[in-house]
Amino acid sequence: MKITKIETLLLSRLHELERQWITARYRTIKADCPVVVIHTDERLTGIGEACAYGVPRRIAEWVDWLAPEIVGKDPRNPAAPHPNGRSAAYDCAVAGIDCALWDLKGQIEGKRASELLTDRPLDRVRLYASSGCRYDWHDRPEQLIDEALDYIAQGFTAFKFRIGTEWSWDGVTVDRFLGLVRELAQAVDGRMELMLDGNQRLSEDQALTIAHELDRLGFAWFEEPIPQTDVDGYARLNAAVGLPITGGEQYTTLEQFRPYLEKRAYSIVQPDAGWCGISEAMRIAEVADRYGVALCPHSWHNGLMAMANAHLVAALPNPHVLELCMIQGPLQWGVLAEPPAIEEGHLLLPARPGLGVTLTDDVRERFPYVEGHYAVIVER
Ligand SMILES: [Mg+2]
Repeated sequence: MKITKIETLLLSRLHELERQWITARYRTIKADCPVVVIHTDERLTGIGEACAYGVPRRIAEWVDWLAPEIVGKDPRNPAAPHPNGRSAAYDCAVAGIDCALWDLKGQIEGKRASELLTDRPLDRVRLYASSGCRYDWHDRPEQLIDEALDYIAQGFTAFKFRIGTEWSWDGVTVDRFLGLVRELAQAVDGRMELMLDGNQRLSEDQALTIAHELDRLGFAWFEEPIPQTDVDGYARLNAAVGLPITGGEQYTTLEQFRPYLEKRAYSIVQPDAGWCGISEAMRIAEVADRYGVALCPHSWHNGLMAMANAHLVAALPNPHVLELCMIQGPLQWGVLAEPPAIEEGHLLLPARPGLGVTLTDDVRERFPYVEGHYAVIVER
């Protein structure tokens, strides 16, 4: 069998005004989905979603540039490129190709991708509802609590939220923020695990105060509290609290994670198969496991990437949870002909080979690409 062609489908959907969401100063106005499709001479095709943060048009250019290295090769052993940790567009292109190859290899072998990665993968993975991106400090921050209760009603067992709109707009302090966090924890009352994502927006002092309180409240983790390159700051925070300090969603190579592992800067690492590929994520997981560090992948965006990350989690040495974006809108599952079942807050891996999903027939017509950035910067 030979690879005959590689192409990238660029898909989008504009959010309705009421579905636009805002964190920090960014208002997100559309959902994007770049899909790498690998064709073969035996009519099998592999599909993989590249993380849209690499910028869809640029990802497509890199896929075209990389195609001559892969076209004509056997999909089981194509000598595929590795992420380089320097260019998000390049790494996302590599990741889309890698995920599509795992989809293809599974179809060739008649096995799920997770069964090719490990001997005894999970059949279902626990999800955490990931959002908390709608509450506005100016308007009604308690919307965050309504949202959490809604996820409990939907059967989710874990929820991750962000720190909200730009704090300086409304004079938000650590104290005010922690007041909302305590109200949330009280309303949830142990029915869901809670995680906080700082999106690298806090100072180390702010992060330390918040980390102590989250630890006291029994949070599952505190993600990216401070700028990601401050490895010593992460190490100090991680040493100061029992609560796991997590991060690394933008890192794509084991080499980038190495100093964080050596310095015990993260208790959980969070690479994304759509950003670094399933192959590199497994490599990172195996080394992290030797340090007693778990991998809980970043997985934002759409259902095809959720499937790649689901197979990754199902195959991990020490699996925990998979992130599920709750605010992507109809594009998220609309790209897939038969989305996987989600029951009691778990994603059930389909009993089909590869990643176990195919694209909707009319996906290009339903979700034509919308040019431009997915977010606008808001001033108040
Ligand atoms: Mg994050």
